[in-house]
Amino acid sequence: MAQEDYYKILGVEKNATAQEIKKAYRKLALKYHPDHNPGDKSAEEKFKQVSEAYEVLSNDEKRAKYDQFGHAAFQQGGMGGGFQGYGGGGFQDPFDIFREVFGGGGGGGAAFYDFFGGGAREQDINAPERGSDIRIELEISLEEAAKGCSKTIRYNRMVECPDCKGSGSKDGSAGRKICSKCKGTGTVRMAQGPIRFTQPCPKCGGSGYVVENPCPKCSGTGRVKERNEVKIDIPAGVYTGARLRKVGAGNAGVNGGSYGDLYAVIFVEQNPDFERDGNDLYKAVKVKFTLAALGGQIEIDTLTGKAVLKVPAGTQPGSTLRMRGLGMPSIRGSEKGDLYVRVDVEVPKKLSEEQRKKLEEFAILCGDDNNKGTSEPFYKKFF
Ligand SMILES: [Zn+2]
Ligand SMILES: [Zn+2]
Repeated sequence: MAQEDYYKILGVEKNATAQEIKKAYRKLALKYHPDHNPGDKSAEEKFKQVSEAYEVLSNDEKRAKYDQFGHAAFQQGGMGGGFQGYGGGGFQDPFDIFREVFGGGGGGGAAFYDFFGGGAREQDINAPERGSDIRIELEISLEEAAKGCSKTIRYNRMVECPDCKGSGSKDGSAGRKICSKCKGTGTVRMAQGPIRFTQPCPKCGGSGYVVENPCPKCSGTGRVKERNEVKIDIPAGVYTGARLRKVGAGNAGVNGGSYGDLYAVIFVEQNPDFERDGNDLYKAVKVKFTLAALGGQIEIDTLTGKAVLKVPAGTQPGSTLRMRGLGMPSIRGSEKGDLYVRVDVEVPKKLSEEQRKKLEEFAILCGDDNNKGTSEPFYKKFF
């Protein structure tokens, strides 16, 4: 994963003063704090990033190292560095930094909860939270895209635990409680000799809460994994990158929150015979030179079946003929793209005696009589 520039994360200039850096951190840390964004994983990730950027840029020594070596300065052997698991990357617990900056003192979580108006976290952990969306990729052929199709897909998702009805508790009593060991932060500080570090809380497994009397089927999470099957109707004219949504087919929420959605992202495979440009299609066909000269019609394959192509007399090699409405349908509305056919004129490689005679006669008719005798290699004329 490419790491974003610390200055960019905080939105400050490279020569920002310590005060500017602190101000930027304060603003962003409040914005992305998990208590302000319950259940929002991307906000939580942002919160960690902001914290990490501040930790480095607010320390003269670390900042100088970062300016010189970039992220490599803080990558630890084997860990690959990064934001994942702030215990591992050698960075401070973001909640500790938050407390330091906002003046929580050394007294654990108290000041921190006060800051958000007391008890906020207690309410938040039992608030309904919508389940996450699931994204799957669906590959279809160009023919399927032209005609439309329906696909049955199977995938795993989290559903509400049938035993506890999603409450996570065995007796259906109270829901979650803040973990007493980590005070809801999900991490604990450890010391090994002179080195202090944080790691996921062993009591709550890093979630920050515990369920008393947990449901044995879902271990207190309120959700269990299920193999789901849905049918997705793919409209004609669909293109690569189109997202089809199946409402409610994502993961179950927690605390009675609604289900997320399923997004099928379409990938249309390349076709060896057709090229697509928007709703138009391109194709090459071989046409005998006599047909190109005399004009006529041939049957060709389109994406949706056979069609008759009219070749006008005198059609030149490489010219393009348009077949109106035989391209891709439009995903919206009823109009259709066109099929452009490039004419590759075929010249016979071998001629029978009779064919040769006729062609020679034809050449003479064209006043092209020195073509007569082409059975001899052309260089003979020069010797
Ligand atoms: Zn359960
Ligand atoms: Zn805990």
